[in-house]
Amino acid sequence: MRKDFHTHPKLMQDPARVEGYIARAKELGIGEICLTDHMPLSVSNAADRIPAGQVKEYLRRGRELAERYAGEITIRVGIELDYHPDFVGEVEDALSAGDFDHRLVSSHLHLFYDQANPPTYAAFAREALENLCRATELPYFTAAAHLDMFRWVFRQSERFPLQESPYDWQENEDLIREIFRNMKARGMKLEINPHFAERPADLSLCYPERPILRLAQTEDLSFCYGSDAHRASSVGAMLAELEQDPDYGPALRSWEET
Ligand SMILES: [Zn+2]
Ligand SMILES: [Zn+2]
Repeated sequence: MRKDFHTHPKLMQDPARVEGYIARAKELGIGEICLTDHMPLSVSNAADRIPAGQVKEYLRRGRELAERYAGEITIRVGIELDYHPDFVGEVEDALSAGDFDHRLVSSHLHLFYDQANPPTYAAFAREALENLCRATELPYFTAAAHLDMFRWVFRQSERFPLQESPYDWQENEDLIREIFRNMKARGMKLEINPHFAERPADLSLCYPERPILRLAQTEDLSFCYGSDAHRASSVGAMLAELEQDPDYGPALRSWEET
């Protein structure tokens, strides 16, 4: 059964908006959808975050929605959590609101870096992965979202002016293996996320990139899929293409079959 476990309906800001997400999921034969709005974070006032102090209400609304749709589609309630070593307390606050079905950990390092002193691509990627590695030592998360999202940041030179430098995932191979081993030990899943790939419809931009996916397969990790939809039309993005793909397809099927 198809499942999409990473969506941003902005349930607190616009409760009716989620209806479009659910309708799109049903259209694509998705039997389970998980809401994963962003946790409140003091360094970000992004409009799609759960406002501070409203995480409990978000969870309650999500559960109510799940009841309303029971028998039609399974609705899970999750949350996307930003890991940065200086902000672990904010993750803990969000998680104290109750039991979430899916707890995605994200290294959104672009929210934290020093604009006055921009790192190189290679240093930025390294730090994002180091943060993820620390996150996977904690017992809080069920999956790692968009593991190599820093590849998108490299393309946002106006908003996040990093210093260009060569980037090769293999420089971080040992660190990525360590992340995967931590994840395996905690039963965490690795997310296949087409958010960056969707608009140009180019699977070479999918997270994680192919060689990292293959590495995860050799480490016997389990996978999940999340469109990272910020609008209803993105629910289930690129699912059909991913299912047919020689690398992503088998990983995705192992998730759809569980
Ligand atoms: Zn994210
Ligand atoms: Zn997201």
